[in-house]
Amino acid sequence: MTTCEEQIACGDSAQSSTQDSANIQSCLTCGECVSRCFLTDGYPDMNPRKLVRKVVTGKVEEMADSEFIWACTMCGRCTTDCRENLDMEEIVGQLRYNALTRGKAPARLLEGIEKALEFGNNTGVDAEEFVEMAEWMAEEMADEMEDVEEGEIEVPFDVEGAEMLYVPNPREYTSNPAQFQTYLKFFRFTNTNWTLSSRVFDITNWGYYVGDRKFATQLVRNLVEEAERLKVKTLLSTECGHGFKILRKDAESWLGRKPEIEVISIVELAHRYLKEGRLPVKAGSVRETVTYHDPCNVGRKLGIYEEPRELIASVADNFVEVWPNRKYSICCGGGGSVKQNPQMGTKRLEHAQMKRDQILKTGADVVVTSCQSCLSQLGDLQERYEMPVKVKSLIEFLVEAIENGADDD
Ligand code: SF4
Ligand code: SF4
Repeated sequence: MTTCEEQIACGDSAQSSTQDSANIQSCLTCGECVSRCFLTDGYPDMNPRKLVRKVVTGKVEEMADSEFIWACTMCGRCTTDCRENLDMEEIVGQLRYNALTRGKAPARLLEGIEKALEFGNNTGVDAEEFVEMAEWMAEEMADEMEDVEEGEIEVPFDVEGAEMLYVPNPREYTSNPAQFQTYLKFFRFTNTNWTLSSRVFDITNWGYYVGDRKFATQLVRNLVEEAERLKVKTLLSTECGHGFKILRKDAESWLGRKPEIEVISIVELAHRYLKEGRLPVKAGSVRETVTYHDPCNVGRKLGIYEEPRELIASVADNFVEVWPNRKYSICCGGGGSVKQNPQMGTKRLEHAQMKRDQILKTGADVVVTSCQSCLSQLGDLQERYEMPVKVKSLIEFLVEAIENGADDD
């Protein structure tokens, strides 16, 4: 058997593959993967099958210069039903690592990794700034809420023994503070016992983006060890597809041990609360027609399909599916570092026209998703193509429904 790391990563043991898909030589060249990739029109000279052939025939160096390995969102749709169990996420990750060892990885991603290792987040915001920003966001939110007294909303930091350590996506304290405020409201509505860490406050993993297992593992270790140090019961991921997928699916094998804490996403927590009657939702409070975009990491890779739909159904009567959905949902085109990679520019929006058309076809007023990369990409798509649809994260959608439902009473 010739494994991914032997074939692509020059036998670097730190890159060792834990997946059956590593036997890259077994590709049947059937082409099943080609028709499933949303990039096929954008790259007439490259596709998943051709990429595998390049590797099998030893043209790995050539692939280090290929834009395709950075345009690929590692969404995994192409190899979902591959008869030889090849896994494109794994193969592209190894090809990116190979490009990295040749000095051909995007500089922006490498800078983000350095910052994440030094500051606990990929933006380079330090602990003091983060605490200040979080407190400012809480104050601003409180000012706008009628039923809140001054100082009533505090952001808990480094609370040992809290039930949950909430780990945000840096977008929440940089480009999209309203999203952070949404989660603050969610914790308040549900009376959640939570804390932030001032040491590690980034769920993303750009080590995974460049396929470097050592960096990726170190970033996961930092998160897990911080949760264990604070003695929380649960590490709570924000709505972040790849970050949560890594914690849920890859962390144990990468770390070589099972984390001593439960790992769940805020969407799973909301669903748990819904079942316990702890989510103050009101049936029918949303009258618009709603659809849901399955993020590839949350849906196809983790199988979380029904929880988001049940949460939407708890407040909205009019739900329509994007087609295809669930396991076969088409990627929005913004994941796998494509959004963060300046080299990809606006191509990611051109590549996403199929997704745009599928959303428009639903006729929905609102498209909801549960990953901040998808949220950002769909927002950009909406703006670029003037789509007559609002784009919301699932928790944002629920929080607004709770607020509007309360106003109606
Ligand atoms: S579907 Fe699997 S076996 Fe068929 S060409 Fe693609 S990678 Fe090879
Ligand atoms: S973008 Fe998705 S479907 Fe296309 S090659 Fe990459 S993993 Fe496969």
